[in-house]
Amino acid sequence: MAATFQVPSKMKAWVYDRYGSVEEVLKLVTDFDVPSIGSDQVLVKVVAAALNPIDSMRITGTYKLPGTSPPGAPGYDLAGVVVKVGNNVKGLKVGDEVYGSGNHPNKYGSLAEYTVAEEKLLTVKPKTLSFEEAASLPIAIQTAYAGLLAAGLSSGKSLLVLGGAGGVGSAVIQIGKEVLGASRVAATASTAKLEFLKSLGADLAIDYTKENVDDLPEKFDVVYVAVGPQSSKAVKALKKGGSVVTITEHFVELPEPAFSFRLDVDGEYQRKLEPFLESGKVRAVIDPVGPFPFEKAIEAFAYLGTGRATGKIVINQF
Ligand code: NDP
Repeated sequence: MAATFQVPSKMKAWVYDRYGSVEEVLKLVTDFDVPSIGSDQVLVKVVAAALNPIDSMRITGTYKLPGTSPPGAPGYDLAGVVVKVGNNVKGLKVGDEVYGSGNHPNKYGSLAEYTVAEEKLLTVKPKTLSFEEAASLPIAIQTAYAGLLAAGLSSGKSLLVLGGAGGVGSAVIQIGKEVLGASRVAATASTAKLEFLKSLGADLAIDYTKENVDDLPEKFDVVYVAVGPQSSKAVKALKKGGSVVTITEHFVELPEPAFSFRLDVDGEYQRKLEPFLESGKVRAVIDPVGPFPFEKAIEAFAYLGTGRATGKIVINQF
C-alpha cells in the first residue's frame, strides 16, 4: 500500500519579513503556511538542510530575484521525505527519501518543516548517506562539477583550487580528482586545514597565510576560484592555454582568460555524481561545529558569516 502522511496546514519555519541582517529579521514562527504544490512539484518533509552564502544574501537583500521578495523562508539545500506529489510527477512517490536544491526558493525554502521543489531538482537519497550528509551536497557538488566541466578539466590535466576547505572547494578537490581524473590537484587553505585538504585527495596543500600562489613555480591547466576575489592571482598560476573559472566574481571585469560561472541548479549533475557518492569516492563534508539544531539557525548563520567553515554547515532536528 502507498505511504500516506498527514500534512498540517501550518508549520514551523524560519522567516524573514523584510530585508536586513539575519539577527534582526530572521524569526522562528510556528504558523507559516505549508506550501501547496504545482503539478510538477513535490512537498518534502525536511529532515536536514544546509546553508550557503546565498542564503544570507537573500535575507539581506544583496541578492534579489524577481518574484522572491519577503516574507519567505530561506534555504536551498535539503534532504527529507516526500509527503505529497503533483499530478505530473512520475519518478518520485510519497515516502521516498530525497535530496536536492530548490532553484530559486521562493517563499518556501528549506529552513522550514516542509518545502516544495520541482521533481527534476530532487533525486532519491543513496542509502549509504545520512540525511545530514545528503543535505550538505546539492549546491556544493553541482557548483563544483559544473564549474569544472565549464573550465574544461579532463583526465590528465592539473588543477589548482583557491579555497579548498569550504563547501564548494572541498567538493572541487574530490570531483576534480575522482570524477574527472585530474593528474594532480593543489589547493589553498590556512595552516590548520592543510591536512584536511590532503585527506580530500589534494596532492599539494598550500598555506595561503605563508605562500603566495602568484609565486608558485608550478603552473596548472585549470584554476578554480572558490573563494575570492582571486582571479588576478589565479591567472598567474595558469599554464599557457589553461583556464580559470571563478564562482565568486560576477559582473566585474576579469583578467584574461578567467571567466565567471554561476550554477543553474540541475538534478542531472547530482544524478551523474551518485555512483561516486554511493561508493564513497566523493564524500560529504560536514563542518564539525555542526550540525546545528533547527532552533539554532541564527547561530549557524553567524558561523557561516565567519567565512571559516570547513565543508558544509548543516541544520537538523527540524
Ligand atoms: P564557505 O563559507 O564554505 O567557505 C569557507 C572557506 O573559505 C573556509 O574553509 C576558509 O578556509 C576558506 N577561505 C577563506 N578565505 C580564504 C582564502 N583567502 N584563501 C583560501 N581559502 C579561504 O563558502 P562556499 O564554499 O559555500 O562558497 C564559496 C563562494 O562561492 C562564496 O562566495 C559563494 O557565494 C560562492 N558560490 C557561488 C556559486 C555560483 O554559482 N557562482 C554557488 C555556490 C557558492 P580558511 O579558514 O582556511 O581560510
